[in-house]
Amino acid sequence: MDNILRIAIQKSGRLSEDSLKLIKECGIRFDNGAGKLKTSATNFPAEILFLRDDDIPGYVEDGVAHLGIVGENVSVESDRDVNTVHKLGFSKCRLSIGVLREHDYAGVQDLEGKSIATSYPKLLGKYLAENNVTAQIHEISGSVEIAPSIGLADAVCDIVSSGSTLLSNGLKEVETIFKSEAVMIASKHLTAGQQDLLDQLLFRIKSVQVAKNNKYILLNCPMSAVDEITKYLPGMKAPTVMPLATEGWCSIHSVINENDFWENIEKIRQAGAEGILVIPIEKMIL
Ligand code: ATP
Ligand code: ZN
Repeated sequence: MDNILRIAIQKSGRLSEDSLKLIKECGIRFDNGAGKLKTSATNFPAEILFLRDDDIPGYVEDGVAHLGIVGENVSVESDRDVNTVHKLGFSKCRLSIGVLREHDYAGVQDLEGKSIATSYPKLLGKYLAENNVTAQIHEISGSVEIAPSIGLADAVCDIVSSGSTLLSNGLKEVETIFKSEAVMIASKHLTAGQQDLLDQLLFRIKSVQVAKNNKYILLNCPMSAVDEITKYLPGMKAPTVMPLATEGWCSIHSVINENDFWENIEKIRQAGAEGILVIPIEKMIL
């Protein structure tokens, strides 16, 4: 079918909830009845396929799915011929090497001749080669962290987010070999119609992402403070300044970036702002 986008997402796991949320925030409605493997959107020419994350890059390469949402770690490890079209900013984690806590680790050369258990043989192999280290890669598909304590390997190379799983298995993180987040991948064989739908979807995703990084701000201040305050509130073009019923006072409406939010709020307060309201923005069209 030429004019429909089939989007593969993880059926159940760490990517599922945020993937569904993103699709919904893009205004795409569908019925995701529990246990379904496929569903059709009701207001966008799209179908959602619910799959194991490891299968997604292969389905996208084959064109069975046109788009997929997966961890970059899985996509790169799969080595499939797909396009990475956008970083999605969630499921951030890293692929790291861990060794037993009592191991005196001085650097990557300490891994020479050792055995390392991992589900990521390609990414690990590349890292070792780049560092001129020869180690034995022991590929296992799950519960990698227990390998050193049961004598299966000297070290592990696994996904870490807080590091608590490594710690609870008596390991310490010694090298980060890859930083990952969820990405959208696309088939290299989209029709013009599908490319057009993908462009529409990416436009919506970017609007949602920009909105998340910004807040709508309203405040009252004396007219004399407007110039100082607007330095910290450039807004999308310029802030809106409206007179209040009280002589000499006004209300400023603008957009403030999440990154330097607290720093700028403090400066705005010091400049004389009162009654500051900060409101989430749902979508932002630039
Ligand atoms: P499946 O059953 O679909 O094969 P899985 O068990 O392989 O699932 P999950 O544990 O659900 O996979 O992880 C999916 C992806 O989420 C990982 O490939 C990684 O990109 C990311 N991820 C893994 N662990 C974390 C974490 N602790 N925090 C954030 N993201 C993570
Ligand atoms: Zn998986």
